[in-house]
Amino acid sequence: LSDRLGGILDRLKKRGALTEADVGEAMREVRRALIEADVALDVVRSFTDKVRTRAVGAEVVKSVTPGQMVVKIVHDELVAMLGSDAKPIDLEAAPPVPVLMVGLQGSGKTTSTAKIARRLKDRAGRKVLMASLDTRRPAAMEQLATLGKQVSVDTLPIVAGQSAVQIARRAMEAARLGGFDVVMLDTAGRVTLDEALMAEVAEVKAATGPHEVLLVADSLTGQDAVNTAKAFDARVGLTGIVLTRADGDGRGGAALSMRAVTGKPIKLVGTGEKMDALEDFDPRRIAGRILGMGDVVSLVEKAVENIDAEKAMAAAERMRKGNFDLEDLRMQLEQMEKLGGLGGLMGMLPGIGKLKNQMANANLDDKVIRRQKAIIDSMTKKERRNPKLLDASRRKRIAAGSGTKVEDVNKLMKMHRQMADMMKAMGASAGGKRGGPMAG
Ligand code: GDP
Ligand code: MG
Repeated sequence: LSDRLGGILDRLKKRGALTEADVGEAMREVRRALIEADVALDVVRSFTDKVRTRAVGAEVVKSVTPGQMVVKIVHDELVAMLGSDAKPIDLEAAPPVPVLMVGLQGSGKTTSTAKIARRLKDRAGRKVLMASLDTRRPAAMEQLATLGKQVSVDTLPIVAGQSAVQIARRAMEAARLGGFDVVMLDTAGRVTLDEALMAEVAEVKAATGPHEVLLVADSLTGQDAVNTAKAFDARVGLTGIVLTRADGDGRGGAALSMRAVTGKPIKLVGTGEKMDALEDFDPRRIAGRILGMGDVVSLVEKAVENIDAEKAMAAAERMRKGNFDLEDLRMQLEQMEKLGGLGGLMGMLPGIGKLKNQMANANLDDKVIRRQKAIIDSMTKKERRNPKLLDASRRKRIAAGSGTKVEDVNKLMKMHRQMADMMKAMGASAGGKRGGPMAG
């Protein structure tokens, strides 16, 4: 038995840490991938610098190479950077809430306006009014009206001879009178950035006070998208980005650059011309596309999973021996949290169904689990390994440290004792039956 356990623990030991050389080598590859994906050069530089610092010294999971480990770290960092604060469109304001759509001509503003309106109507049950402020091209207003009919969303009646600001004011007024929740303002675009366009958009913004100002940007335009984002953010102030043509064969570098340069979240992604071709932004997908190293990433993810599984196996052994301590309980809680319910380690023990039911009845929801973890975290390592140490004064200290009540600590201790007893009983019978570890 001790041989087997020893083997598991041995494999759990660190394989080593990433050296400067490991990281430097892998980073060259990553640089190339980022540049090929059309990420802006200064963004490539600052990003790789940051990740290099993070990666050196990081632990290498067994069964992957240092290079693969770096790619995984790069990938996770990319995901964090792309999507750490991704939020859906924010409509928390007194209705009618104006949403201003800005961007260059042909970027997909009008199409995205109708797609978003449709989504707000269908998914959030909002009453939406759309208005085209494109006074230069009469066809643009017709285009929005046609799309409005297609998705069954009202559009502001077209009145000739009004300026963009006048139309915007009229839209807000009509929305107020008509009891609309949201007003989508689709502005005109130019082929290139110019002052007249910026001035007009800024004026519309001042007149309507939009809750969201969304830049619609074509993901295939790479560098240009970055300059556009920078200019609009500086002059008008953006709250988010809608990335269009993600169905094209671009590699998503523009997404990273725009995010890095403006710091504004990418909220939605257009994936086609049809009205339902609109998706929530998925940072993992874009990160995989940028790196073009999806296989490596999933390989390392699997390796990390295996390590977790091995840890779980080791803990299962401990349970069979009746050594289930609070450290083990914490891991168990963590697993439950991860799996969104009761599963994981428990499933590795025979006859555990009854215990699972008991715990389900005890109402172990996320909040409770977090609180229990906090309690265990407030204990010393010694206490976690030997719960018998926890007398009244220690429990009081732990309750204070974890922001809970002594009563909560007592409850946790009781749960732990019940689990440990039950596991011991089951482990003994299971071990005996199989002539397994307990027999030796
Ligand atoms: P605007 O000038 O910014 O208003 O751009 P439009 O909304 O008129 O879009 C210009 C063209 O791009 C139209 O033919 C749209 O159908 C197309 N388009 C818009 N979004 C997407 C997208 O996500 N994917 C693809 N493939 N085409 C799109
Ligand atoms: Mg348009």
